[in-house]
Amino acid sequence: MDGQISGRTAADAIISVRHLSKSFGKHEVLKDIDFNVFKGDVTTVIGASGSGKSTLLRCINLLETPSSGQILYHGQDVMGRHVDAAGYRSHVGMVFQSFNLFYNKNVLDNCMVGQIRVLKRSKQQAYEEAIKYLGKVGMLPYMKAKPRQLSGGQKQRVAIARALAMNPEVLLFDEPTSALDPEMVGEVLDVMSALAKEGMTMIVVTHEMAFARQVSTQVVYMNDGVICESGTPDQIFGNPQNDKTKDFLARFL
Ligand code: ADP
Ligand code: MG
Repeated sequence: MDGQISGRTAADAIISVRHLSKSFGKHEVLKDIDFNVFKGDVTTVIGASGSGKSTLLRCINLLETPSSGQILYHGQDVMGRHVDAAGYRSHVGMVFQSFNLFYNKNVLDNCMVGQIRVLKRSKQQAYEEAIKYLGKVGMLPYMKAKPRQLSGGQKQRVAIARALAMNPEVLLFDEPTSALDPEMVGEVLDVMSALAKEGMTMIVVTHEMAFARQVSTQVVYMNDGVICESGTPDQIFGNPQNDKTKDFLARFL
């Protein structure tokens, strides 16, 4: 792959996306996507609206079925018939632009329900993990609140705590700050930066270029369903090779 960071082979990848294509009817929105995610990588996916970024994350999270190609998790094809999607999603969690919290449940219950249902944890265990991660994102004082009582930034921090409470190996973020008022973007990016520093493996679709440049280990630029260019942040932001990458990044100057 273009710009692949040297010294690592696909066999070591946690997630390996191979020749992935996805069509909706006649519209091919992902075309032969290939990339690897290694332990501790923060992979940011950038690109214009409609370029296929969400579809890519949704395929990795099994919310869409690819038309062809493979997604390997530790070398195992996650689209195999034997794969339990809920179990896989507990290892590869997702944080959505629109939070997707359970609005009838309070903050604490939002962070416990998946642990109890999917991981079969006891209430006590689930409670302890929920408390741990709500504390980590600074939302412990709101544990009895309902989502509608929270600001967007607070809701997204709860969504991150809920995802973390499942102890995932990889977290996917689909434009986690795009639905937020500008003054709340920073509190969510701060939580994500802290996770990255601790070595959490993450794939982040974002338009926050400063975050992508500072926090990523690899940047993937998508254009019209293909990976146009990928590499380290220094390569992509400092010395992009492809004219389309240059044009895209120029919009953020
Ligand atoms: P991005 O996240 O980069 O904005 P998306 O993955 O959401 O891009 O969308 C890529 C393309 O796929 C767009 O043209 C979009 O309209 C189309 N698309 C996404 N989801 C569906 C769907 N469920 N049915 C039909 N077309 C879709
Ligand atoms: Mg999207």
